[in-house]
Parts: sequence; C-alpha cells; structure tokens
Amino acid sequence: MDLKENYEKVRKNIEDACARTGRDPASVTLIAVSKTKPVGMMEAFYAMGQRVFGENHVTELVEKQELHPEYTFHMIGHLQRNKVRKLIGRTAMIHSVDSERLAEEISKESVKAGRVTDILLEVNAGNEESKYGFAPEEVLDAAVQIAALPGIRICGLMTVAPFVENPEENRPIFRKMRQLSVDMNAKKIDNISGMVLSMGMTNDYEVAIEEGATHVRVGTGLFGERDYGGNIK
Ligand SMILES: *Cc1c(COP(=O)(O)O)cnc(C)c1O
Repeated sequence: MDLKENYEKVRKNIEDACARTGRDPASVTLIAVSKTKPVGMMEAFYAMGQRVFGENHVTELVEKQELHPEYTFHMIGHLQRNKVRKLIGRTAMIHSVDSERLAEEISKESVKAGRVTDILLEVNAGNEESKYGFAPEEVLDAAVQIAALPGIRICGLMTVAPFVENPEENRPIFRKMRQLSVDMNAKKIDNISGMVLSMGMTNDYEVAIEEGATHVRVGTGLFGERDYGGNIK
C-alpha cells in the first residue's frame, strides 16, 4: 500500500469537493483516523504534512500522544466517564460528547486541571438504535444546559452517519446537521463558539464537505483496512 498515494488522493478529493461548492480547502480539517494503526504510519503521514490525528480509545490515544506530544489529537470515539480524567489536556477536541452526564464529568475534570476543554456534541442524526448521540430534536436544549458548565467550550456538532452503499444516501443527514448547526448558532448561547461540523468518513467525506463539513474523519482511505488484532508499536 502506498501511503503517499492515499494521502494525495484524499487531499485532492477534498480540494475537488471544495471547488464544486466554492469553498476554501483551508476551511476543511482532515483528521487522519489512526485507531489501531502503528505509530510508524502516523509518522509517515506527519512527514507528508499531516498534523491532526483521530483516536477512539483513551488508552491508545494517551500512549500515542506521549510518544508524539507535538501531534494534534482529537478524541472521536465513545467516551466513558471513568476515562475522562486521563484524557484532559491531551486532545484538541473531544468530538463524542453524547450525554449531559459526560459533559458534566469533562467539566469537573477540566476545572480541576485548570483547563478549558473544547467539545462537540454528538448527534445521532440517522436515529439509529446502535449509535450514540443526542437525538436531533433534543440536542439544542442539551446545548443550553451544557454551555452553562464551567471548563468546557462547545465548538459545534459531530455525527457518525449510517454506513451506506451510495454516499449520496447520507446527503440529507449531512444537510440536517448543517441546519442544526445554524440553529444552534442562531440561539447565540454564551460559551458556544461553534461552527465546527465534524462529519464524513472514508465512504462519504466528499458529500459531507459539499454539505458544509469543517472536519472530516478519514481512516481507511489513508491507512488502509483496520486489523483489530494489530499492535500499535
Ligand atoms: C473509525 C472512525 C472513523 C473513520 O472511519 P473510516 O471509515 O475508516 O474512514 C471516523 N469516525 C469515527 C467516529 C470512527 O470511529
């Protein structure tokens, strides 16, 4: 597998999707989702200019972050409250805040650490049973509650769209997310500085960008298929 070829292809696809919709490619952050993948591959992408990586397990994120504190890490996976303390101060952003109780824990630990943690609220935009996140109808009310907590800043919204054969099928979901983000910002709630819209994965990031994604999370398209038995060293 040629990592450089993958990287150039993803970057080109992002540029093309931006060009189709009159967006500046600089308005889209590519998060290289390195979960289960060895640090050596991350180093190869870093050498190509990639700076931002996404992980979905706290232990793995912490281990990689200690090896490369100069890399930027985003936490994108489901987060248990008892793991929050280990994560504070190690991420640029926690994308996967899916309950008020989790937000309260992040707030509490951030205050203790004397920090402000940037978060996104995860929305179960496809209303899937198997997915984490606030229902689209409840996320704005939750945002009001969460924004009042100290030690955190809501920067926007995130979703994991359903897996579909044809990425066009997710366009309405991305469009709904964009509208929610506009609605949330229109409320002008203190402590919500949020125009971040984290959506789109290998299968559908181009459609997500056309619909307004500011952060796309691409794993397989860069690193190849995941082998969950792999060793990250
Ligand atoms: C694994 C993962 C991704 C990347 O998925 P790919 O299909 O490999 O690009 C993106 N977002 C989340 C939340 C993930 O867990």
